[in-house]
Amino acid sequence: MKLYSTKNIDHIVDLEEAVINSLAPEGGLYMPCELQPLPESFWSDFYNRSFQENSYLVCSHLFDGYIPENILKDIVYEAINFPAPLVRMSDTNIYSLELWHGPSLAFKDFGARFMSRLMSYFNRNNDSDLTILVATSGDTGGAVAAGFYDTPGIEVIILYPSGKVSALQEKQLTALGKNITALEIDGTFDDCQALVKQAFLDKSLNKQYRLSSANSINIARLIPQSFYYFEAIKQLGPTKEPITISVPSGNFGNLTAGLIAKRLGLKIDQFIAATNINNIVPKYLETGIYEPKPSISTISNAMDVGRPSNFDRMMALYRSTWNDIKQDISGAFYNDDQNKTIVKAIHNSHQYVADPHGALGYQSLIDVNSDGNNIFFETAHPAKFLDVMDEVLGSGNTPVPKRLALLKDKEKVSISLDTSYNSFCEWLKERKT
Ligand SMILES: *Cc1c(COP(=O)(O)O)cnc(C)c1O
Repeated sequence: MKLYSTKNIDHIVDLEEAVINSLAPEGGLYMPCELQPLPESFWSDFYNRSFQENSYLVCSHLFDGYIPENILKDIVYEAINFPAPLVRMSDTNIYSLELWHGPSLAFKDFGARFMSRLMSYFNRNNDSDLTILVATSGDTGGAVAAGFYDTPGIEVIILYPSGKVSALQEKQLTALGKNITALEIDGTFDDCQALVKQAFLDKSLNKQYRLSSANSINIARLIPQSFYYFEAIKQLGPTKEPITISVPSGNFGNLTAGLIAKRLGLKIDQFIAATNINNIVPKYLETGIYEPKPSISTISNAMDVGRPSNFDRMMALYRSTWNDIKQDISGAFYNDDQNKTIVKAIHNSHQYVADPHGALGYQSLIDVNSDGNNIFFETAHPAKFLDVMDEVLGSGNTPVPKRLALLKDKEKVSISLDTSYNSFCEWLKERKT
């Protein structure tokens, strides 16, 4: 499998390089050179196969023999080991695709689990571990920690700002142990990110450690996100009516994965890019002008992104042609007051508890009012945002999954460091000797 850089279509690498390096030179993102439609044989038995089997076949088509089939099958089956049920909103043609049945209760589990196993495979012939450095403001760290937990040959070091992530998020980062180490930095998220950036540029450190990142723009996180689009359409069953999928979006990885699924031949007629007031992409779809801005905090905070990193990938797929992209994707955005009203309305009308991200997907489908089949992505479990949910629905109305409740009693283990690169580096070097 070959991939090109969005900054230079002549810069072509193979999958291993794209996954280990994450980013192409000058901040380019990797994209598959070929997105050929799946063969007829894939579709003949599509509705009868399991989520895992269809996912493996899609992946095998994309990887095109790059990894031995039996190994690829294991990687996909291990990564996609929890369901993504399609749940109908009572008396409507609207469905929720629940993507939160994995370990960290958000769709990011699919990407993190797949990437960890792929990286572990690429590292198989090295005697030294691969060390993944991640800075997190909360949610990404949880998915990466759970996704890489106990993966052979990979060590994960997570840097998070002390006192600035929720108690629950902190437990997701600090209570696992084994190959996951949490560094509690006495500073901000930006300080954490600065330390990670400096480490990647540090030549002497890179001689000691084989460093990599679990960055959200890694192509290995994007590819498995296309698998559950197939699963959604499979569960919907054969239909001649148009299919619209609304994707609550921030960095637009999830939506880009859907565009890839469509290129592979999956029947999706229309996408909706649903955002909060960080509405850079809906504005672009409306006006043709792309204007990144500093992000604004909202109650759907996993979508507080002012410069969506996957926008370049969307542009690459459509060769920057606004008219073409508008044909496939429409935009919608909502403020926090609207969001709360929507969460309440979904609960009242359908006895369904949607989280503040998925809720915006639901509303965009109502507003577009298509008479075909409509699916929104429920991107996280609502209990991850219990403060907001309890404020809107009243306490006791949002079920808390057992694995989240259990986290409360787990012990937090972290190493406290100040924000200086020296302290971080000393700590890293000491543990290696
Ligand atoms: C990350 C995240 C999003 C945004 O996904 P993108 O792929 O960045 O657009 C939406 N909802 C939740 C709950 C998330 O964690």
